[in-house]
Amino acid sequence: MQKIAMTTPLVEMDGDEMTRIIWQMIKDDLLLPFIDLKTEYYDLGLKKRDETNDRITVEAAEATKRLGVAVKCATITPNAARVKEYDLHAMYKSPNATIRAALDGTVFRAPILVKGIDPYVRTWKKPIILARHAYGDIYKNVEILAEGPGKAELLFTDGQGNETRRVIHEFDGPGVIQGVHNTDASIEGFARSCFSYALDQKMDLWFSTKDTISKTYDGRFKAVFQKLYDTEYKEAFEEAGIEYFYTLIDDAVARVIRSEGGMLWALKNYDGDVMSDMMATSFGSLAMMTSVLVSPDGKYEYEAAHGTVQRHYYKHLKGEATSTNSVATIFAWTGALRKRGELDDLPELMKFADTLEEATLETIESGKMTGDLAIITSLEKVEKLNTEDFILAIRDCLAKKLGA
Ligand code: NAP
Ligand code: MG
Repeated sequence: MQKIAMTTPLVEMDGDEMTRIIWQMIKDDLLLPFIDLKTEYYDLGLKKRDETNDRITVEAAEATKRLGVAVKCATITPNAARVKEYDLHAMYKSPNATIRAALDGTVFRAPILVKGIDPYVRTWKKPIILARHAYGDIYKNVEILAEGPGKAELLFTDGQGNETRRVIHEFDGPGVIQGVHNTDASIEGFARSCFSYALDQKMDLWFSTKDTISKTYDGRFKAVFQKLYDTEYKEAFEEAGIEYFYTLIDDAVARVIRSEGGMLWALKNYDGDVMSDMMATSFGSLAMMTSVLVSPDGKYEYEAAHGTVQRHYYKHLKGEATSTNSVATIFAWTGALRKRGELDDLPELMKFADTLEEATLETIESGKMTGDLAIITSLEKVEKLNTEDFILAIRDCLAKKLGA
């Protein structure tokens, strides 16, 4: 079989622990036999990050800005235990935070639906993609513990020294005070990423806040989205046959639960934080959740939503069999390859991405799956496979489909 050609390389970001092992298996068994794979390789494994004083992460982010499409393996975010374990020179920032900041991007999380792994919400038939604003609000708050009676005020001094003052509360006993902020620039970047990803996916975009209570703060989010939609995206949405829909968050929650799914749901920072954990669980498994970072100017970085699966890695190091689910990592690759194919006008590459996804889902539907799915599936005939055998089962199915 003639291997499928690529023109522009993907930015490939390798990672850590069990997902690093899976990464190599996916390349060896599912990609390299069929594609003339072109990547610009960045090793974001912790050892290399430490050797380069984390410069490698910055370079990978810069490469993504230049080439437009990246695929990333899960990586360790160092904490005190990791500093000791890897004898690190510093407690480096999370690579995801570095890349997100460089791209000024928004993270979209999408579940992979497959027959036999049923969402807890019976009505959901299509994926619900969640977009979380990743700047400000309570994540950059300032807090005061009022020890006793007193007056709390909000004060803004503008560039000319003019003051705007509001009384927050006159305390007659102890209490708590919190200051939060956001910026128009960040809200606008978030809105742009959401509008362009909705167009990319041809999915309706829902946005919800609590603007009935927070008239100025949440009201600003609503207004920024609406203005951008009216002035820049309305026509494209109409042409694509999709809609932009704003509703109060309470109403959105009720509608989402009753819906069939199939929408992109944009949320403020805290709402997105909480809802994304609920969504991952409701759809069945964290190992079936993909994640894509989209910048306002349309650069894409694909990855699995889960971490490096440390517990399985230590079993693997001891020579014990593991049954780690590679589906989200495979879909990170297919997402990136399909996007590269779309940008470079390579229909064969896009078709390959579709076929690999089909082969992955059909393998599970035939009863062959990893342990995490075997315990929640509604299928009756189940064969629990180890990490590599699952990937090899997908390869067999893929090879058949490709006639290779
Ligand atoms: P994790 O890697 O997501 O794993 C937590 C648990 O979830 C696992 O022990 C396993 O449960 C289950 N699980 C997750 N993915 C699975 C898969 N593909 N197949 C089967 N089971 C899966 O989270 P963690 O152990 O808390 O974090 C490990 C490292 O990952 C940390 O150093 C953290 O910094 C990093 N991390 C990175 C990213 C990223 O790069 N985007 C995201 C999150 C965390 P059982 O043990 O019960 O089988
Ligand atoms: Mg959370």
